[in-house]
Amino acid sequence: MIPVFKPLLGDAEKQAAAEVLEIGWLGMGANVQKFEAAVRDRCDLHLRSVVAVATGHAALHLALLQLKIGPGDEVITPSFNNVADFQAIKAVGAEIVFSDILDETLCVDPDSIERMISERTKAIIVMDYDCFLCDHTRIQEISGKYNIPVIHDAAHSFGSKYNGKYVGHQHAFTMYSFDPVKSFTCLDGGVLVSADKTLEPSLHRARLVGMGQPASIMYGNSRAWTYGVEELGFRYHMSNMHAAIGISQLEKFDIIQSSRQQSCKLYDSAFLGHKYVRTPNANYDDILPFLYYIRVPAHHRDDLIHYARAEGVDLGIHWQPGHSFGYFEECKRDDLKITEKVVSEIVSLPFHSCMDLKDQERVVSVIDSFFKN
Ligand SMILES: *Cc1c(COP(=O)(O)O)cnc(C)c1O
Repeated sequence: MIPVFKPLLGDAEKQAAAEVLEIGWLGMGANVQKFEAAVRDRCDLHLRSVVAVATGHAALHLALLQLKIGPGDEVITPSFNNVADFQAIKAVGAEIVFSDILDETLCVDPDSIERMISERTKAIIVMDYDCFLCDHTRIQEISGKYNIPVIHDAAHSFGSKYNGKYVGHQHAFTMYSFDPVKSFTCLDGGVLVSADKTLEPSLHRARLVGMGQPASIMYGNSRAWTYGVEELGFRYHMSNMHAAIGISQLEKFDIIQSSRQQSCKLYDSAFLGHKYVRTPNANYDDILPFLYYIRVPAHHRDDLIHYARAEGVDLGIHWQPGHSFGYFEECKRDDLKITEKVVSEIVSLPFHSCMDLKDQERVVSVIDSFFKN
């Protein structure tokens, strides 16, 4: 079976993991600092807080806590988003408000955000989808006009640039995910970026169950035995092993980006002019694509997925919309016309770093043969 996702792992990752086991300092430590520095250097984030945490979900949760969002507050986010985002909003006791997306980019529709703003709106979570970036300029304008901070879910767009600047510079907070299937993996991991450089110490405590243990001590593979606890915190730190894998992955940045761009272009051109398949057909120059999706007529979608699986090609769906889940169905929402349409048409194709050309041709031919029958 050709899988939808497959991490690019090699000797470097194995060696990095072996070194951590050899040293024996497994928890929060020196590699975490190195990983944060690598992310900071890669994305030019020298004037911002950059804090590595356990998952992207944890980063979103900490961002909402920093903004002091809680019961009675509303957070607007597209229904076409990851469950991790919805649960982060729930975790602080706030209410989710669903907005619609744009048909061309599948990113949030800024007009829909603006329609859903109320007295109680305390944050907006926007998300770049695959090879498309949100209209961050419009979103910044809305944020300024209503004085509502934006949390940027950049789980798909780590390493991409918006108007020449790396993703991570556009809003008050940005989250990157390094989970098992993302373009770069830490096994599991996340990073929270804040525009406020002074937030770092507070984020360091929050990720370490509130312990006032200076990160500088832990970054020396060491710990203080006495410390204060003055605030709420979670066990959200990144561990040395995870950071070591992440560092090896980031060293492959150029090859991961260029091979992914190439694979997107190859899929785009393979389906060019196809009667049933609509491709993103984006400009990939400044983009580091995380997945590759197509859109097919809704009444063919599930049959296509079953057919391809039987032929040894796994096809995915990103995602089911938030408002379709029982736990979120009562949430306030805009008219979600585009979302409803998109979620019935969307299919994620197998898409890996340095993807095998034969696998890619096989995916195309299986989809082609489905529609020929
Ligand atoms: C993967 C993902 C998340 C969650 O990140 P984790 O690191 O898995 O917690 C959130 N949002 C989007 C868009 C994602 O793709």
